[in-house]
Amino acid sequence: MIISMKKGATKEQIEHVCRRIQEFGYKVHSIQGEERVVIGAVGVGDVTACLESLEAAPGVESAVRISSPYKFVSREFKPEPTRVRVDGAELGGGEFVVMAGPCSVENEKQIMAAAEGVARAGAKILRGGAFKPRTSPYDFQGLELEGLKLLAKARQATGLAVVTEIMSDGDVNRVAEVADILQVGARNMQNFALLKALGKCPKPILLKRGMSSTVKELLMSAEYITAHGNPNIILCERGIRTFETATRNTCDIAAVAVLHELTHLPVILDPSHASGKRSLVPALARAGVAIGADGLIVEVHPEPEKALSDGAQSLSLAEFSRMMEELKPYLGLWKASRSVAAPAPA
Ligand code: PEP
Ligand code: MN
Repeated sequence: MIISMKKGATKEQIEHVCRRIQEFGYKVHSIQGEERVVIGAVGVGDVTACLESLEAAPGVESAVRISSPYKFVSREFKPEPTRVRVDGAELGGGEFVVMAGPCSVENEKQIMAAAEGVARAGAKILRGGAFKPRTSPYDFQGLELEGLKLLAKARQATGLAVVTEIMSDGDVNRVAEVADILQVGARNMQNFALLKALGKCPKPILLKRGMSSTVKELLMSAEYITAHGNPNIILCERGIRTFETATRNTCDIAAVAVLHELTHLPVILDPSHASGKRSLVPALARAGVAIGADGLIVEVHPEPEKALSDGAQSLSLAEFSRMMEELKPYLGLWKASRSVAAPAPA
């Protein structure tokens, strides 16, 4: 159950509702909200009697039963799309937002050239890993703090917002100082200590789907972040492990549409990790636009053949610019479909 309190509900009214929830045998799981207090009641009890009692309680706006295990992020709880705002862009509304940049921040010249190039081609957000989760301990692990400093420099020079990966709950503050969006990578989608810490972070979170995770598990991870206080989450489909070896991962394009049915959170597609192959990225990007994703995250490197990570799937600046040009007619249709989908003005 989710109980939304009226704007301006008093502390006593909120405490009364929490007490009643507990009397019915439920646990008060979390209280959150920017404008109003929203209370989650989880567990087993007499739902109908509890709802009836709470609906009549002073200060309560609404009390609804949410059948899905992910409550705050479900469409049942909030039918209208959540708009996640970052400096210079908004995801989940009428704008298709492209995030682009290298897999890893490697040096100043590389990140500056990437930032300037992707900005010129129309990206709104610069991506670049400073802390890198690598399969081999002998591979490049990222520049860490030095990488964060270079991202800050690139943002200053181009005005682009920055998205970068966070791997550990101990790093939240220092990454959040620089990042406009904190990225949780596929390998950390179920790092619950990290998810809880990000619930306390004031910045938006980009949550990537684990390579062997179901859509439901992705939504449960988003629920962790929301239940701990941060509702600003962008979900990302980045391909999953299957028997198929022709691509690095199998792009589960349907997941974008499935997620839009199940959750109000914005959903983007990562055609780079989903394919692992530069030549396939533009086609998957078009598929992302066509299926109604809210944006893309694309790996772009000024010299892909010299990249310290994920060179094979990175576009050159010229290839990225061409892809952005080629996406334009599709984006026209995307915008038209969004305005049809939007509710008519009152
Ligand atoms: C990345 O974005 O560079 C990355 C490591 O992605 P994923 O977590 O999806 O593998
Ligand atoms: Mn990568």
